[in-house]
Amino acid sequence: METKIYTLPELPYSYEALAPFLTENQLRLHHDKHHSAYVNGANAILQRMDKANKENSDLDMKATLKELSFNVGGHLLHSLFWENLAPTGESGAPEGLIARTIDEEFGSLERLKKLFTQTAVSAEGSGWAALTFCKATKRPLIMQVEKHNVNVYPMFRILMVLDVWEHAYYVDYRNERAKYVEAFWGNVNWREVNRRLEDALAH
Ligand code: MN
Repeated sequence: METKIYTLPELPYSYEALAPFLTENQLRLHHDKHHSAYVNGANAILQRMDKANKENSDLDMKATLKELSFNVGGHLLHSLFWENLAPTGESGAPEGLIARTIDEEFGSLERLKKLFTQTAVSAEGSGWAALTFCKATKRPLIMQVEKHNVNVYPMFRILMVLDVWEHAYYVDYRNERAKYVEAFWGNVNWREVNRRLEDALAH
């Protein structure tokens, strides 16, 4: 029960592993600067809350919780994102449960890719596209997250995410988000996506 703060996870591959989808420069900036800023931001707010509790002093709950939701959402989504990317050449194809689930729900992988791509490309400003799983209906559903924390459904399990904040692609793709999204499909870790689906059904 001791862990009281968030920590920045290391990438599960080297900084060069995702090229040419993402270069080392792009990945370092994204992971070491942006992701770590959300971890530090979340921890700073938690410490502020701890201090206020200790002193029994007032907190602006509305502002504090909004800021916390943004930072924790950012940290959790980035952590999921790194893990659902595969080193170049190791993406594989959907197999097993995830393959059957995609076919049943969307008709084909191509259709899922088309819908997910439209979701990613059309996110206004900063956000995410996510493939999620609703345990109540046993349906995979695509979610379009605004910022890191808006339009998120409670309890849905996240199978795969794609960060479409400009900081995720600007070094490598400038303003061409659609090219970045297209390249993403070559580095999806389908084994991890399948593992998350199996885990969602089991727990
Ligand atoms: Mn990001």
